[in-house]
Amino acid sequence: MNKLTLPTFFNDQAAIQALANNHLLKSYPALLTHLEAIQAAYAQYVAVGGDARAVIPVALPEPVKAFLRGHYASPPKAIDYIDKIRLDGEVKTCPMCGSMSGGTLDHVLPKTDFAAFAVFGLNLVPACKCNGLRSTTLTGPGAGQRILHPYFDAILADRLLAARFDDLGPVPRVSIRVLLDPAHPAFPGVQFHVENVVARTHVRAWLRDQWIKLVRKPSLMIRDLRTNPASREALVAILEEELATQDETYESKNSWYSMFAAGLLDTDVTDWLHLRLSQPGRADNAELVGV
Ligand SMILES: [Zn+2]
Repeated sequence: MNKLTLPTFFNDQAAIQALANNHLLKSYPALLTHLEAIQAAYAQYVAVGGDARAVIPVALPEPVKAFLRGHYASPPKAIDYIDKIRLDGEVKTCPMCGSMSGGTLDHVLPKTDFAAFAVFGLNLVPACKCNGLRSTTLTGPGAGQRILHPYFDAILADRLLAARFDDLGPVPRVSIRVLLDPAHPAFPGVQFHVENVVARTHVRAWLRDQWIKLVRKPSLMIRDLRTNPASREALVAILEEELATQDETYESKNSWYSMFAAGLLDTDVTDWLHLRLSQPGRADNAELVGV
């Protein structure tokens, strides 16, 4: 997950107007009939900050919906910024799920249910293949339960998630912990987003694999653990440094690498690591559990 800067290299209102007025396209004049409603919907989307609970869908006839989806699939010149958003998609961290890959374009509000926003630039975010895995469910029954929007939800810049390792040993049980206080107003949204986007990826298997590597040879995951830390404090300093480095490398506090490092800083996990790293006679960088 990550906060993205609101892109400014296109103007959605002018673009949809140019698209609707282009009489060389098959969508003319059907699209023009609904231009006003679509432009109003764009403004309403921005006014509510892309909040899936508050964006009002636009009733459009099926042929107009099909034209808009067709224009997305093959963008005419008026909306060629869609290709640029896709190219800019070489994000270091997927803003939707936190993986360290990109390559696709995600409609935050899916074009199947929200055809009016099929070519709306602020509804398009570069993402990874989690795009195809995520639920089309956008909101839950409880207050504040909704998918988060990388362009609008400022809280995505904060540290929100950490791996949670239980049954510590060669292969732990892995879950994802939301770091916000449950009383925080953003908590239901973050938890909903985790359940419907992040948890549908292979993030838990990935985190487990990183743990397995760490236990086999600590420096494979954390280079500074190639020699045994002198104390628990020294271990904590190494783990904190690792977390800061991952935040900086992937330009996000919620990439999968940051989630991994944050999970190692849980008191019981740090204790477990310290106990094993400080066993008398332990060779530097040796396995943390016996085979
Ligand atoms: Zn993703």
